[in-house]
Amino acid sequence: MTKRVHNFSAGPGVLPVPVLEAIQHDMLALPQAGISVLEISHRSKWFIEIYQEAQANLRQLLNIPSNYHVLFLQGGANLQFSMVPLNLLRGQNAPADYIVTGSWSVKAVKEAQREGEVRVLWNGKDDKFVRVPKQTELTFNSDAAYVHFTSNETIQGVEFAVEPDAGEVPLVCDMSSDFMSRPLDVNRYGLIYAGAQKNAGPSGATIVIIRDDLLTKVPDNLHTMLDYRIHVKKESSYNTPPVFSVYVIMLMTRWLMNDIGGLAEIAKINHQKASLLYNLIDNSNGFYIGHAQADSRSLMNVSFNLQTPELEQAFLSEAAKHDLHTLKGHLSIGGIRASIYNAMPLESVQALRDFMIKFQTNH
Ligand SMILES: *Cc1c(COP(=O)(O)O)cnc(C)c1O
Repeated sequence: MTKRVHNFSAGPGVLPVPVLEAIQHDMLALPQAGISVLEISHRSKWFIEIYQEAQANLRQLLNIPSNYHVLFLQGGANLQFSMVPLNLLRGQNAPADYIVTGSWSVKAVKEAQREGEVRVLWNGKDDKFVRVPKQTELTFNSDAAYVHFTSNETIQGVEFAVEPDAGEVPLVCDMSSDFMSRPLDVNRYGLIYAGAQKNAGPSGATIVIIRDDLLTKVPDNLHTMLDYRIHVKKESSYNTPPVFSVYVIMLMTRWLMNDIGGLAEIAKINHQKASLLYNLIDNSNGFYIGHAQADSRSLMNVSFNLQTPELEQAFLSEAAKHDLHTLKGHLSIGGIRASIYNAMPLESVQALRDFMIKFQTNH
């Protein structure tokens, strides 16, 4: 096998080796079908089985109640920034409330504003997005069409430890970068969406979980492809779904269930991995400067700085020599970002930790 490096990419992110091996194994032909999943009809019984297993496994892993629909759409989380307000805000005669904790929630607000009034309940921008709000800092409006928040800000590396409690108002969440990283009480949400390429599979599919009663809010004049009701009715196959992505998501759910043992188990591992890096940052006497405040730290994206851009550049090039790759922080905040999603092995995080200790000693 060609050597694999430690891949800290923010997205598309690392996939588990057993999943990659399963893809490789079936690449020329799915055992029953005799053709590969890249060539398969989305109307074939083989794909329908894959689709149904992906959906059933997601329902089991996340304990999704029966009054929620699970969809596999395209267009990424970015399209959901628009589809959410198109379906749930247009024609509602009520504003939507947004919690702004980083770059992705800023983008979500921008699209929602095209459809109706947006109230920003809390904005971390002036603090450079170093934390998420506490429940006590949020005043919810019972008249809101919905409340939108981003559970994990992939760029800044701030994450909600628990979802905000918006009372009766439907809670809508962009969960792209921490979806399936921990157990979840889906009942607390009206709608969850997640681009698969961070924590759930490859790019090309966006998972949407929507509570059935919200479909009654959808206005009647939407374009077909933008209407959640169509995708529910057609089981995500109104148009050709991203068959390969759905297949890999299905393999990811199998891996989480069979190899890992469920979301409570992966959550433990994720805690362990993140602690390795945050403890090191905290004990580095200011050599490494964490971006997020301690109570808002992301278990998925560890963003930090060194004292100077020159030192950060040296860090990145020396890291690459140790097979530690894609650690450059997002352009908007600079510095270093280690994305340590579900599929990131503990050993890779240990390798990064060991390198960081050595780098500090040498500088
Ligand atoms: C990556 C990301 C997005 C954008 O996803 P696309 O699939 O590229 O549209 C949105 N929100 C969050 C939290 C992300 O991490």
